[in-house]
Amino acid sequence: MFQKVLIANRGEIALRVLRACKELGIQTVVVHSTADSDAMHVRLADESVCIGPPPSRESYLNIHQIVAACEITGADAVHPGYGFLSENAKFADILAAHNITFIGPSGDHIRIMGDKIEAKRTAKRLGIPVVPGSDGAISDEKEAKRVAAGIGYPVIIKASAGGGGRGMKVARSEADLEVALQTARSEAGAAFGDDAVYIEKFLEKPRHIELQVFGDGAGRGVHFGERDCSLQRRHQKVWEEANSPALNSEERARIGGICAKAIADLGYSGAGTIEFLYENGEFYFIEMNTRLQVEHPVTEAITGIDLVHEQIRVASGGGLSVRQEDIKFNGHAIECRINAEDPRTFTPSPGTITHFHTPGGLGVRVDSGVYSGYRIPPYYDSLIGKLIVHGRNRVECMMRLRRALDEFVVDGIKTTLPLFRDLVGNPDIANGDYDIHWLEKYLAEDD
Ligand code: ADP
Repeated sequence: MFQKVLIANRGEIALRVLRACKELGIQTVVVHSTADSDAMHVRLADESVCIGPPPSRESYLNIHQIVAACEITGADAVHPGYGFLSENAKFADILAAHNITFIGPSGDHIRIMGDKIEAKRTAKRLGIPVVPGSDGAISDEKEAKRVAAGIGYPVIIKASAGGGGRGMKVARSEADLEVALQTARSEAGAAFGDDAVYIEKFLEKPRHIELQVFGDGAGRGVHFGERDCSLQRRHQKVWEEANSPALNSEERARIGGICAKAIADLGYSGAGTIEFLYENGEFYFIEMNTRLQVEHPVTEAITGIDLVHEQIRVASGGGLSVRQEDIKFNGHAIECRINAEDPRTFTPSPGTITHFHTPGGLGVRVDSGVYSGYRIPPYYDSLIGKLIVHGRNRVECMMRLRRALDEFVVDGIKTTLPLFRDLVGNPDIANGDYDIHWLEKYLAEDD
């Protein structure tokens, strides 16, 4: 087991990882920017190192400073959290070269999955169902037309280097194709410095369903069931559930089995998430994230397993603590992402939190890095906390969520709490009857 883990992140996820380390008796080091000197993770860690000014690229993305902080403090492993350097293959390679363990998969696996064309090719080879589309990058308009005619309109053009929903354009007919191709290409070039794009069938009413998987790096793979993250705004997840209201246990076992086997065959190490669109009973792979996800607590709630403990165990060579048959799904869980944003316009609302009161009671978990009197710096993303509620079934979970939302008080800034108070009373949400476009339509109608 590791002696000392450095946490290369901030906010609620830094605290989340810190808690897991403390439980395992591991010393913690956190790094922080000058804007985060008062952050909760800095206060609670055994040691902290200031690594630079507020902008992320000079602090949380500064590989040299983070490696130096490891050397100074004698940390033997780094947990990257999510975002920042968590899917940076070069970072994983550099740590390995310094004999520091990256708590995550190998640089090579990060690289494969970070290139969406390569990821899709790999998924297909491993027997994972993929969205029909081009075999690789599209070279010109002629090829785009041929591929699109083959799979049928509408189609979506996506950036191979994509992320955060950028560089995606839908073409409903051949007449739209030229403009969509050019726009996607130039957006991808500007955002990622790589203008390679590919084409996929555009699914009209899919759900976003993702499988939590784990590999032990020695040829064993397991799955922890799925999460339904269909409630999205601008391709960003807002509300997540486990299990999905749309799947039955046979479908879960079937797709879970395919994913666990793929992970084993790949020789993958650590936590991963295989993301699918799901429509008319079929799964279509879209991408794999090679890290812990924001929404991992809903999986923890229904399985009772601490996924960060598992990440640390696997990375330290201790293997997984569970076999597939030990992983049981118990009840239902929902997570709401609470952002410091206007609940209607979603404009960021940084500032000082004058009062912060979190709900409690049976089945309620709040993961947050903020407190009364905390000043939210304007430099980072607007997530201030996550409310995770568990019940014996979805009905009980929704009742508990409504109650927990009522208790939650955040004064001094605007938050997305009022949006969740509306959603929890909505009949479609109560019935679990929504797809990836539901929330955008709901917000548009409300204006
Ligand atoms: P990113 O890495 O930019 O988040 P993804 O490939 O994960 O991109 O897609 C993000 C979201 O875009 C999906 O959750 C879904 O809402 C939408 N999307 C992606 N591919 C398709 C498709 N083929 N058909 C319909 N919607 C899609």
